[in-house]
Amino acid sequence: MAAKLAGIGIHTLQDVLFHLPFRYQDRTRLSKIGQLTPGREAMVCGEVLIADVVIRQRRSLLVRINDGTGSITLRFFHFSQQQVKQFERGRQVRCFGEARRGPGMLEMVHPEYRLLKDGLSAESELDTTLTPFYPTTEGVQQTTLRRLTEQALSRLEVAALQDLLPARLLAHCGLPDLVSALRIVHRPPPQADVQALLEGVHPAHRRLALEELIAHRLGLRLLRVNAQRQHAPLIRPPGTQMGALRHGLPFALTGAQDRVLLDVLNDMGTDEPMLRLVQGDVGSGKTVVAALAAAQVVESGFQVAMMAPTEILAEQHMLNFSQWFEPLGISVGWLTGKLRAVQRRSAIEAVAMGHQHIVVGTHALFQKDVEFNNLGLAIIDEQHRFGVHQRMALRNKGADTHTLPHQLIMTATPIPRTLAMTAYADLDVSVIDELPPGRKPVTTVAVDNVRRGELIERVGAAIDEGRQVYWVCTLIEESESLQAEAAEDTFATLQELLPRHRIGLVHGRLKPRDKEAIMQSFKACEIDLLIATTVIEVGVDVPNASLMIIENAERLGLSQLHQLRGRVGRGSEQSSCMLLYQAPLSNNARERLGIMRETNDGFVIAEKDLSLRGAGEVLGTRQTGLAEFRIARLGRDDDLLDDVSNIADQLLAAYPKLVQRLVRRWIGEEKKDYGGV
Ligand code: ADP
Ligand code: MG
Repeated sequence: MAAKLAGIGIHTLQDVLFHLPFRYQDRTRLSKIGQLTPGREAMVCGEVLIADVVIRQRRSLLVRINDGTGSITLRFFHFSQQQVKQFERGRQVRCFGEARRGPGMLEMVHPEYRLLKDGLSAESELDTTLTPFYPTTEGVQQTTLRRLTEQALSRLEVAALQDLLPARLLAHCGLPDLVSALRIVHRPPPQADVQALLEGVHPAHRRLALEELIAHRLGLRLLRVNAQRQHAPLIRPPGTQMGALRHGLPFALTGAQDRVLLDVLNDMGTDEPMLRLVQGDVGSGKTVVAALAAAQVVESGFQVAMMAPTEILAEQHMLNFSQWFEPLGISVGWLTGKLRAVQRRSAIEAVAMGHQHIVVGTHALFQKDVEFNNLGLAIIDEQHRFGVHQRMALRNKGADTHTLPHQLIMTATPIPRTLAMTAYADLDVSVIDELPPGRKPVTTVAVDNVRRGELIERVGAAIDEGRQVYWVCTLIEESESLQAEAAEDTFATLQELLPRHRIGLVHGRLKPRDKEAIMQSFKACEIDLLIATTVIEVGVDVPNASLMIIENAERLGLSQLHQLRGRVGRGSEQSSCMLLYQAPLSNNARERLGIMRETNDGFVIAEKDLSLRGAGEVLGTRQTGLAEFRIARLGRDDDLLDDVSNIADQLLAAYPKLVQRLVRRWIGEEKKDYGGV
């Protein structure tokens, strides 16, 4: 049983208490048969009028009962002779079930029932609380969970679960204390507002959600406090290298890029570690800001690590950085998981010796055996792919235990306020809220897959006009090899249909060198049409590409579509994006495609995404290491957030002991880095 319970996240008594019902049944009162409505569950009590076995389509036992206000039929398909006899005319039967429309009158199919003994009134021995139903798993019955919660609740009597939020801080919220809240959600009194309980907006739920959100915020605040107790390298050089890099660029920075760069330089000019998140919509030019900051750090004599979530993106940063830094006499190193052992060893050595000033790579940079000589700045690109754990791992790559590198985290996923206040509470945020001049919004249309032939002709015509095209193959399965197969098929078909055009194929199964070569020839206009898997989703930059086709667009989430679409619209050409879909569309898919057609604004899209999918999905919970909240729901509980930050601040200032316990209670021991700070 313990193993099965562990499967649904229940390990401790406290986990039992935080495992909340998702619905309730009301067996606390009798309904009048005459007032039953179809589709509703109810408890009724009536006198048996007739019980009869009938054989129409199926042999069934029909029992008609009446309570003076009306009659209802109880219908049984499985029954014994014994049961048939029980239902003697005139006996009182109390039953619970869902009333449905039957032939002639309402009926209950296989209700739970009980024949009342003589002298027992209809109202006797009714339940005193609503009956909870818990999320469960195979082999764990509702009755087991009810028994467990009953036991856990009875231990609350002996104060097993102490209220950690001082009443003084909660006074203005008008919410129940912890013990009452738990009692209400697990065993609601008959008069409880069931609708509010089902929606999770009952004050009892809100009390629990509030505490959970406070605990998460505290966990991250502690991370930050701990980080800031450490030292970081002072980055305050004359800025010669940075100036040279900047003047060599073929464009001027936008006002927003300038402002964000200044934030970063200010942060790094103190000996407290910078913890800054730079958010900028796709194409807003985050990379160059990172590069300018890196120049400053290298000039101060420290190393820079630049990390990207995919090989392809790391390769691209590698190309950009080499192009920018080599003229300045700064070499750029390379470290990914796909290096051969020998190359890897020498790369690691160059990093450890401090010979390599800038290292670009993937997750490989986090590995234990990678040691920096004097890491001054860690840049993490496309943050939503990395999590709190990885942020921690990088923080720990400083020269010694008292020194932390500055951290610059870049993301194209706009962070709604709700998430900024919880999941990112350890970071300062700067926003690049301006696109480089001359960008035109991408025109987006949705195209039914039956018009594929027509679409392919249009692709051919666009290429003839000198445009470059992405054709993105997607599947529901995340499996890169299945995606690669799909892309290979499409590649073969399109080569046949567009024989005059130069078509390339790139997917995750190619060797890094081949991938890079293909991306390079696409960039150099030697390929007209690039068939790709979602490996190109983040960051890939080919300004001349101005048309994108996305297959199976109806299966993708908004953020992913936005990311993909961000690969076009980077040049001065008017770009377009065609979302190929397979009819019929679900309502949700129709809504997503509609939003993509209507807006190019990453913020609007992120907010919609959050409301359509929920925070866990948007954040990519599995990757972020942030468990989906157990009770709180972003979106639903947003109005608690002001209280969350106020109370968290007061706890940090005045109740440090409680802070530790709250974090441990909600975030647990297993996520030590984050929760057990
Ligand atoms: P993202 O923020 O999506 O990572 P990139 O850093 O890849 O965006 O920049 C997108 C493109 O815009 C690149 O080709 C880059 O060189 C270019 N770019 C960046 N800043 C500017 C600017 N201020 N003016 C013109 N082009 C710019
Ligand atoms: Mg980028």
